[in-house]
Amino acid sequence: MSGGPRVTRVAVAGAAGRMGQAVCAAVEGADDLDLTGRADPALGVALDAVLEDCDVVVDFTQPHTALENARTALAAGRHVVIGTTGFDVDALRAAAQGASANAFVAPNFAIGAVLLMRFAAEASRHMAGAEIVEYHHPAKLDAPSGTAKRTAELMEGDVPIHSVRLPGLVADQDVILGDVAQTLTLRHVTTDRTSFMPGVLLAVRAVADLPDRLTVGLERLLWPG
Ligand code: NAP
Repeated sequence: MSGGPRVTRVAVAGAAGRMGQAVCAAVEGADDLDLTGRADPALGVALDAVLEDCDVVVDFTQPHTALENARTALAAGRHVVIGTTGFDVDALRAAAQGASANAFVAPNFAIGAVLLMRFAAEASRHMAGAEIVEYHHPAKLDAPSGTAKRTAELMEGDVPIHSVRLPGLVADQDVILGDVAQTLTLRHVTTDRTSFMPGVLLAVRAVADLPDRLTVGLERLLWPG
């Protein structure tokens, strides 16, 4: 037996996509992680073909495939970290119950966005009203974004969401709160997809040891308990 640190073997589903490529590069750059598989229709590799050699599957695919990929990974006893948005998390909860591995899902892996959600939730308790404006690249399939929906859920009151889709954007969000003669704007801006990688690697390293079969939200890793 080697006395070196434990290396976690990671397979990426959606490896040819925008996020998947960034995840592959981040995993390859981490000494304690080993990129053992890249699954993607564009690469001609199905998820089944990479499960054998991995401990954790990271999924950045599409809303209609993420749930099935998670079921496949969990059935094979592989932990799964899901960044894909716009799928039914309650169905994932059902799939995770009784599984022999853990699932972690976060609508946003950018630590600044998670901080924004927390600050917005706090501010909403003290301001009369609030609205969310989320800005993404035009190829994003779902609207409103998973992050915007989650932010609104955490805030008090009815919080409308506006979705902007334009070239030149990655993934930004404003929360604007208003009250007597004043507004407060909380803004999170990303300049490229590497913004998500510290959060993704945090989840990859944590998922095997989580106390629940399904954990939702990066905040559960930043502020455990
Ligand atoms: P993308 O560029 O379209 O990448 C998705 C990739 O997954 C494509 O290459 C697609 O191949 C592939 N794919 C489709 N079905 C698959 C399957 N069954 N198994 C393996 N791979 C499959 O999309 P993206 O911009 O990277 O975004 C991916 C997801 O991540 C979206 O849901 C987005 O909202 C989400 N996202 C989340 C965060 C976060 O922090 N949580 C941040 C950014 C993005 P084909 O094109 O051939 O179908």
